[in-house]
Amino acid sequence: PVVTRFAPSPTGFLHIGNARTGLFSWLYARHHGGKALLRIEDTDKARSTQEAIDVILDGLDWLGLDFDGETVYQSQRADRHAEVANKLLEAGHAYKCFATQEELAEMREQQKAAKQPMRYDGRWRDRDPSEAPAGAPYVIRIKTPEGGETVIEDAVQGRVKVDNREIDDFILLRADGSPTYMLAVVVDDMDMGCTHIIRGDDHLNNAFRQIQVIRAMQGIEDGWEEPTYAHVPLIHGNDGAKLSKRHGALGVRDYREMGILPETLFNYLLRLGWGHGDQEEFTKEEAIALFDIDAVNKGPSRFDMKKLLNMNGNYIRAADDARLAGLVAKLIGPEADEKLLAEAMPVLKTRARDLNELADGAAFLFKQRPLEMTEKAAEQLDGEARGRLAAISARLHGETHWTIEALEANLKAYAEEMGLGLGKLAQPLRAALTGQTTSPGIFDVLVLLGREESLARIDAQAG
Ligand code: GLU
Repeated sequence: PVVTRFAPSPTGFLHIGNARTGLFSWLYARHHGGKALLRIEDTDKARSTQEAIDVILDGLDWLGLDFDGETVYQSQRADRHAEVANKLLEAGHAYKCFATQEELAEMREQQKAAKQPMRYDGRWRDRDPSEAPAGAPYVIRIKTPEGGETVIEDAVQGRVKVDNREIDDFILLRADGSPTYMLAVVVDDMDMGCTHIIRGDDHLNNAFRQIQVIRAMQGIEDGWEEPTYAHVPLIHGNDGAKLSKRHGALGVRDYREMGILPETLFNYLLRLGWGHGDQEEFTKEEAIALFDIDAVNKGPSRFDMKKLLNMNGNYIRAADDARLAGLVAKLIGPEADEKLLAEAMPVLKTRARDLNELADGAAFLFKQRPLEMTEKAAEQLDGEARGRLAAISARLHGETHWTIEALEANLKAYAEEMGLGLGKLAQPLRAALTGQTTSPGIFDVLVLLGREESLARIDAQAG
C-alpha cells in the first residue's frame, strides 16, 4: 500500500510551495487508497515554536488536507536517529571522525586553492580510532561508495544519476550526539513506512545521500526499502525567478487573509504543475480521482496572482450564500447581520474577487445613520439632487409594494415625468442610501435595506 508523508519545517509560515507538495503527497495517497502521513521537522529549536507549528497545522486544516494517523514530531525521535547511526557504526558502514574544526577548515582552504570541490576527504575512513587523543570529540560519518554511480528513477524528473565520488562521507551524528537533518529525515521516512517521497526538487541532492543510508541499513534491519522519489519543480514568480517575498505573499495564511477561499487555493495549487486535459476547476473528489504523479510537469510553474484572483471570483460565485455570509460577517464585525448578508449575497457576489471586496461591498447594509459619505458621494448631493431626493421620498412613502419591480416602475415613471435619465436619479439616490458611488443595482439596494431604513436614509439627505 502507498504511504506518503508531508514533512514541513516550522518556519513561521506554511510556504505555498510546500503546501503544494503537501497537497500532492496527500492526493497521491488518497488516489491510491493509501496513507498520507504528516511529520513536523521541528529540530531547529529556535524556530520551532508552538505558534510556528500551529501555523502549519491550521493552514493544512484550512486547505482541507486531513492527514492520517498521529503527527510525527522529528525532535522526539533523536534517540532512534542516534541508534541507527550507532548500528551503522557497529556494522562498519560508518566511522568515527576525529578531525577538528581547524583541520577541516584547512582542508577546505587547500581544496579551494586547488580549485577542487570542497568536500570531506575521508581522512578518518580507514584510520584506527585509537589514533585519536583520549576523550577527543568525534562525529559519526557514513561510508559512502567510492566508485560507481547512484541512480534514481524519479517519478517526476525521470532517470537522474550522480557520480559517487561527488557524495562525500557526510555526518550522521554530531559530536554532541545530535542527529543531522540528512539522517533524521531518512530514518523517519523508513520508520513511517513511506513508499513515496513527494517533495520539492531542492531536495533532489539530498536523495542521493539519503539512499546511501537506506542501502547501508538494508543488511542491518528489515524494512529499509528504497522509496519512489518524486521531486516536484519549485514554483516561480510571474517573472520566472524563484518565488520570493518580492512576488508578494508566500504563506497560506497570507492568502487566507487576502480573502481567498480554501477551495480556490486548493485548486490553484493543484493546477500549478499538474493538469488533466484542459479542465480548469476540480472538486476535491475529482482531484482525488484524477491525480497521479506522472502528469506533474517537469518544468517550473509560474505563480500568477491575477489568475488566482479570477479563479477566486469564480469560486465565490459558486459558493453557498449562507457560508459566504458567515465569512463576510466576521470581516465586517459585530454589526453585521448574517441573515441579511445571505439574502444580499446573490447581488453582492457578482463581481467580487475576494472576501474583503465582498465585505467592502456589503458594508453599506450595516452603516449607522447619519451615513458617513465618501468624498465622491458627497459631491453627488448638491442642492438640485437634494430637491429630487425630497420628491423621490414623497413618492416612495406612497409606494405600497417594496419590490424591485414596483420600485423600478415607480422611479422610471418619475424620471420620465422629469425628462431625466434614470441614471441621473440613481446617482444621488445611491449616495444617500450607501454613502458611496458604487454599489449593487439601486433597486437591489432599496429592497435589501428595506422600506424603513431606505426612507430614513433618503430623508436624511433630502432638501
Ligand atoms: N523539512 C523539509 C522542508 O521543509 C522537507 C524535507 C523533506 O521533504 O524531505 O523543506
